[in-house]
Amino acid sequence: MTSTSPLKTVILPSDQDSTGRDLGAEELELLEKVIHSGTLTSTKGFFTRSLEERFAAMLGVRKAHACASGTAAIHVAVAALDPNPGDEIVTTSITDMGALTPLLYQGAIPVFAEVDPLTLNVTRKTLESCLSERTKAIVVTHLFGHACEMGGIMDLARSRNIPVIEDCAQAYLARSDGKYVGTFGAIGCFSMQQGKHMTTGEGGMVVTSDESLARRMFLFINKAWGYGDPNPDHYFLSLNYRISELQSAVALAQLEKLESVVERRIAAATQLTRMLAGISGLKTPQVEPGAVHTYWKYCLNVDGSAIRDGAVGLSKLLKNRGIMSAPRYIQKPAFMCEIFQKRRTFGTSQYPFTLARPEALDYSPQRFPLTLKALNDVLVLPWNERYTEEHLEYIAESIQESVEQLRI
Ligand SMILES: *Cc1c(COP(=O)(O)O)cnc(C)c1O
Repeated sequence: MTSTSPLKTVILPSDQDSTGRDLGAEELELLEKVIHSGTLTSTKGFFTRSLEERFAAMLGVRKAHACASGTAAIHVAVAALDPNPGDEIVTTSITDMGALTPLLYQGAIPVFAEVDPLTLNVTRKTLESCLSERTKAIVVTHLFGHACEMGGIMDLARSRNIPVIEDCAQAYLARSDGKYVGTFGAIGCFSMQQGKHMTTGEGGMVVTSDESLARRMFLFINKAWGYGDPNPDHYFLSLNYRISELQSAVALAQLEKLESVVERRIAAATQLTRMLAGISGLKTPQVEPGAVHTYWKYCLNVDGSAIRDGAVGLSKLLKNRGIMSAPRYIQKPAFMCEIFQKRRTFGTSQYPFTLARPEALDYSPQRFPLTLKALNDVLVLPWNERYTEEHLEYIAESIQESVEQLRI
């Protein structure tokens, strides 16, 4: 067996508690204002409206609407496009389940595109081969903080007149050719869950520059009640997906810190990439030309023919040193989960899968070689804006020494 490490364990800041979250006086001050105001609902308060205005201004879009979660944001975006039952939405199987189940709730069929095995992002090419006459929309996920190739993807989408939803939950302030993700497609979606670049525990945001989509999204968040209309009614089927004023107060304070958080994450990642240069069998994160990667996580690509047991082997040795990395990221592509395999949806109906083309539900592994390769080779390192020189040196040394122990 391998020898034990001579290094003393360095405890890394974690985004699950105060060691790696920047929550303090600024948040408390705004929270106190909400409490004193006595208005905790966004329908009557000031903080959610203010958050939405600032978020929209930050990205340079016309409208932003806050909602209950990133999952809600995806649901709101899909609902705004109003698919007919059985319509197809092309997306990725390497994502959070919260980016997929809303499609099914709206009666749409997720069709899974392959990904680039190094970035784990969908590409113009992988999306194009999944389009059909039933494609209603494309949902792209900017995974780990790295933008998809939006130039090519938007050219494709425009040529087929297909709206694009961008899932930016992991990619705050990430850019492609100088433009923020979330501003390319019809709608951008964000999450403010505990582990995202900014957080209010749970929360989400949708952005758009299309006024009619903005209106539909506002309504979908609000039980489709026409607030402020001369003769308001509940116009269509929808839910209460509102955020509270308490959450918006925290989010407003977090928003002020976002640029600094992103800069520090990028600086730390750039430094680790420099420290890890030249280790054979290991690839540091690929950053596409013209992209600004904002590092929700820091991913290594591990070559299992050079390093024994690949990403899994490396992860085990890093765990011994207190570095909790995730080989395979989400373990398996989403379509391998029971919800898709057994079509567990509404009672025993299997709706909306019952409406799908059989080809759209072909989840056989030979159709997804790139997706399986991507998951097999990826090692996801936790990332944090509070990493210091000492943390980075510890991570780099741990990786170097572990790789040498595992070298074939
Ligand atoms: C976190 C996340 C979501 C879901 O957001 P929640 O706020 O947890 O509901 C959706 N998509 C991606 C890519 C995510 O990382």
